[in-house]
Formats: sequence, structure tokens, C-alpha cells
Amino acid sequence: MSEASARKAPARILVVEDERDIAALVAYHLTKEGYRVRTTESGQEALEAIGAEKPDLLVLDLMLPGFSGYDVLQELRRRPDLADVPVVVLTARRDEADRVKGLELGADDYVTKPFSPRELVLRVGAVLRRAQSPAVAGGGRTLRAGAIVVDLNALRVEVAHEELDLTPTEYRLLVTLLERRGRVQSRQQLLENAWDIHARIETRTVDMHVQRLRSKLGNHGDLIETVRGFGYRFRAREDE
Ligand code: CA
Repeated sequence: MSEASARKAPARILVVEDERDIAALVAYHLTKEGYRVRTTESGQEALEAIGAEKPDLLVLDLMLPGFSGYDVLQELRRRPDLADVPVVVLTARRDEADRVKGLELGADDYVTKPFSPRELVLRVGAVLRRAQSPAVAGGGRTLRAGAIVVDLNALRVEVAHEELDLTPTEYRLLVTLLERRGRVQSRQQLLENAWDIHARIETRTVDMHVQRLRSKLGNHGDLIETVRGFGYRFRAREDE
């Protein structure tokens, strides 16, 4: 049974891609997997479609005419109601700089063209899984670290009673670090736990997401410590 058909309602995916043959290929494979797929050819159209009906995931080409994929990503992450939409970026560019920029803007994963449809389907499935299930079964539990409160049922994070808009990946990363508070986590461990994926994402990806998570945590960001040459640790006590 496919990933999507195991759920009650199929996840809704919006594909934003100006090259029609690629859009059709992506739509075909995602639909076959049981997802409900819509396609748009421009960034502008994409934002309108997202405003009308919030998708469960966005597959976003970066190189679009006019309003680029970067612009779409930036706009999404700026809007509190849309900041949590998971995004898988499609990029023809193999350039490290472009991937990093996409991740900096809050993409959850990326696939470099030319890609195998199978790989894209796997990536989409993994990102959706992460977005739809908390890192640890909730059961009414709450994680706290000083002013930071994570409600594992509601998938909400508050810092000093202000709700924080985290992407699904940032949320999983924070929960993973908090669950293992005081213990150093290697980048590989974080990839396996927060990303639920074992292959091919570079550890640099972890650094980018930790950087974003820290900046969102504001003056509490330094609770996440870098352990040089190894990984990251959420400080055992706030007053250390
Ligand atoms: Ca394009």
C-alpha cells in the first residue's frame, strides 16, 4: 500500500513548476502515489492558490519567471498562517550556494534536477511524515526549557508565551534536541531523528536549520550549543 493511500484523506500537494513536461511528470508520479495534486506555472499563481486552499506540501521549482521560487518561499515563511507549509524545493542548480539559500529561506528538503521521480516521491513522503507526526508520540506531554514550551500534542512552540512559527523540520529538530537535553547529538543523529532520512542530505543542511531555529528562539537561541567537530547539544540547564 502506498504512503498516501494508507491515510484517510490524501495529502494535497501543490506543484509549482513552469516547465510543463516536468510539472506533468511530477504530478503523474505523486498522483499515482495517491496524493491530490495541483500544478501552477508561476510564483504569483502559486501564492494565490495557497491563499485559496492551504496545501499539505509544496513542491517548488526555484527558477520561475518573474516571481521566483525564492520569493514564494520568503513570502510563505513570512506569513504566520503559512509558515508551517512544508516545502520541497526543485532546483536545476547544483550550486551549493543556491541550495543553501533555499534552506536558509526555510525549505525542508531539496531535489536537484535531473531527478528520479522515485526519489522525489520518497522525499515528499518523508517530509509529509515529519510534518504530520511529532518526533515523539505526544500523549499530552509538554517539553519545557525555561521560557521555551513545546506542546507535543498541539505541535505548538511558545517562547515567553509568544507562539513561534517553526517549519516542520525546525520543530522536529527542536523536539529532538530537547528530548535529549544535555546530551550531544551528532549531525548524523539529528538527520536520522529530525529528518527521518538516512541518505544523501548533507550535514551542512543540519547546520542551516539549527541556525534558523536559533535565530527564531531569539535570546534563547544560545541554549542550543555547538559542540565543535561533533554536533549540537541543548543545554542541560538554562542558567549554566
Ligand atoms: Ca523552472
